[in-house]
Amino acid sequence: MFGRAPRRSDNSKYYGILGVSKSASQDELKKAYKKAAIKNHPDKGGDPEKFKELAQAYEVLSDPDKREIYDQYGEDALKEGMGGGDASHSPFDIFESFFGGGAFGGGGSSRRRKKQGEDVIHTLKVSLEDLYNGTTKKLSLSRNVLCPKCKGKGSKSGTTGRCYGCQGSGMKISTRQIGPGMIQQMQHVCPECRGSGEVISERDKCPQCKGNKVSQEKKVLEVHVEKGMQHGQKITFQGEADEAPDTITGDIVFVLQQKEHPRFKRKFDDLYVEHTLTLTEALCGFQFALTHLDNRQLLIKSNPGEVIKPDQYKAINDEGMPHHQRPFMRGRLFIHFNLEFSDCGFLSPEKCRVLETILPPRPSKQLSNMELDECEETTLHDVNIEEEMRRKEQQRKQEAYDDEDDEPTMPRVACNQQ
Ligand SMILES: [Zn+2]
Ligand SMILES: [Zn+2]
Repeated sequence: MFGRAPRRSDNSKYYGILGVSKSASQDELKKAYKKAAIKNHPDKGGDPEKFKELAQAYEVLSDPDKREIYDQYGEDALKEGMGGGDASHSPFDIFESFFGGGAFGGGGSSRRRKKQGEDVIHTLKVSLEDLYNGTTKKLSLSRNVLCPKCKGKGSKSGTTGRCYGCQGSGMKISTRQIGPGMIQQMQHVCPECRGSGEVISERDKCPQCKGNKVSQEKKVLEVHVEKGMQHGQKITFQGEADEAPDTITGDIVFVLQQKEHPRFKRKFDDLYVEHTLTLTEALCGFQFALTHLDNRQLLIKSNPGEVIKPDQYKAINDEGMPHHQRPFMRGRLFIHFNLEFSDCGFLSPEKCRVLETILPPRPSKQLSNMELDECEETTLHDVNIEEEMRRKEQQRKQEAYDDEDDEPTMPRVACNQQ
């Protein structure tokens, strides 16, 4: 195949880099590489050159064919192409083949480091019923996937050329005179390659993605909302976000957002519900049906002889929210009682006398006639206290607004310096 015999060159350097003997077994090579690669990984502050050397040495010595050539003729022989057709791998690919994290599928000609793709975050509105009972929501999303035809290369040949416009850097620098002797330099994304640094010739473009490397795909995701999940909880679909070349695909994350419920409030695993009692119910007992979040009817009734006070809470065990991942355990259901007096209306003196025989006695201390003589008569009027408060608030705002008008405004001076 080759017209000339390869020169002999150094054939011990790779062994030295890995710190093994020339007779080292595959296992010893592996161990030596692993240990040194972790120590020298650039993410851990290691020297990138040393990291590259380790990968290079390991790549050759771990391949029996390449190792034989190296042992016989040295490094230069491999560079001249005796190691077979395939291009060498990036040091990160070799490292990742040991430690995971987006190993390459195909030829692995990319020398660039894989970027971390962005996560896509959606809010998912759920009802309290959904969180109580659990549910599955199907969501249709469209996302970018690597073009299946060219496997994300963008070209038929699987190769790309370097962009002439930016020499492969993806950025262009333009200069412009902005005044006598003053030149402004501006850096911007190369318009020819849109920052990728590569070009694909018109003839070589992949017919399916037109050289874009990615295509759109519609995907239906089934989001399982489990019993007892909380507002704000995240459901993650790992690696389902947009795919892009040389990028570790990010996640799609759904953040649960609980809609307000008209009757129930939730605090952790407990539920709260409001209930209004009439005075008669509060004093003489009550019963009512409460529709729960799974449509069961709960019979709520007072204990015989028990009087409910305004603002009082009562609790029912195990009727709160299910615990997430332990749905057979539930919190409590709290009932907050409000008392409504409006149905009492006006009580005649006769009715009052009857009531007074039943109700607890009045405070023992009554005003004496002499004390009454020293008092001034007053009249109690009806008021709508909310209305009164609103009017006061409006008045206060109006006054504050009037004051603001009197304040002189300071002119602001802007100074721009280049
Ligand atoms: Zn360019
Ligand atoms: Zn394509």
